[in-house]
Amino acid sequence: MSPGSTSKTTQSAGNVAGPNRAGPRRGPLHSSMGDEAIKQVKRQAFKTSSTIRLSSSTSLAATKSANAMSTKNNHTLDILAKAEAGGYGVLSQVCYDWAEVVGVIRAAERFKAPVIVQLFPVTLQYGGGPFLQLLLDMAHNASVPVSVHLDHATNDEQLELAVGLAEKGIKFDSIMVDASHADTDEENINIAIPWIKRCNAAGVRTEVELGRLEGGEAGLRQVEGTILTDPAKAEEFLKRTGADILAPCVGNRHGSYVPFGGADGQWDMQLLETLSKQFKGRIPICAHGTDELPEHMWGQMIKAGVSKINVNSWIRDPYIENLCEGLKTKPMPEAIEDATEVVINECEKLFKLFGCIGKA
Ligand SMILES: [Zn+2]
Repeated sequence: MSPGSTSKTTQSAGNVAGPNRAGPRRGPLHSSMGDEAIKQVKRQAFKTSSTIRLSSSTSLAATKSANAMSTKNNHTLDILAKAEAGGYGVLSQVCYDWAEVVGVIRAAERFKAPVIVQLFPVTLQYGGGPFLQLLLDMAHNASVPVSVHLDHATNDEQLELAVGLAEKGIKFDSIMVDASHADTDEENINIAIPWIKRCNAAGVRTEVELGRLEGGEAGLRQVEGTILTDPAKAEEFLKRTGADILAPCVGNRHGSYVPFGGADGQWDMQLLETLSKQFKGRIPICAHGTDELPEHMWGQMIKAGVSKINVNSWIRDPYIENLCEGLKTKPMPEAIEDATEVVINECEKLFKLFGCIGKA
């Protein structure tokens, strides 16, 4: 535990990372649709499936114009500044393959909602620079604001890959420089500063975590020991590191809340509000650890000032389940198209809860 940080007693959850968790995951968010409703959505999907524009002179011009208007000249920060001012949340979805990205961007275009597509380092390591370039082209030529973010870059190898690509011109809009595993805040700062300097020089903005989230997700390391974010230390931390986005720990955790009796009561919404007010208009607040949240908590966190909402399994699991089932009986392109539509449906549910429909 770092000196001065508030500790919170927690118990080890064991390895709960990955999609095969026990217990309720989705609750009312995943209410079943009637057959006719599903057919209607599918009909609409085929009508609008061409709305994603990978490159057109019109959308490129629109992107350039949007850049010129941006106060921060950065896709992620611009999206988050508008969300904070407008009192809505932005879906920041972890994507594992290109079809999931297509689904998230189609959803953003269909519902006129800004979104952030984010990768874990393991996916960047798998696809490398060409895959990142593809995502950047897709995101930045969409008809609505879409940025591309790297989540939880925690070690030198992961950071070198991402920052090295940025220095060669293949740039994430933003990168989470995550040294929250450090033993002390001082060590966290010292690890983060050189990477943040290189990111800033390359035109990439950064997110940092102060405090420590316990738990793990597929593709992330397992972390033990919750440390709540101290507001006074957060001010110094952001000032010294020069980071742009804060991921605080307010009792949120990665992976399952089931062994802890659910997420309700684990999150200190008062602390979240204190931090949001403290950094309002300066540093956007990002919520991590959103698996299994009951429906009312999304609105609570947005009311408390969160603008960037990281989501993983809510969209990943229905997408993968549908794709795996579909591939058993359908031709591959049809199975992928249908699974992409599942991503869009799941995004819509979250967009409604986040209040971001029509905000792009
Ligand atoms: Zn996270």
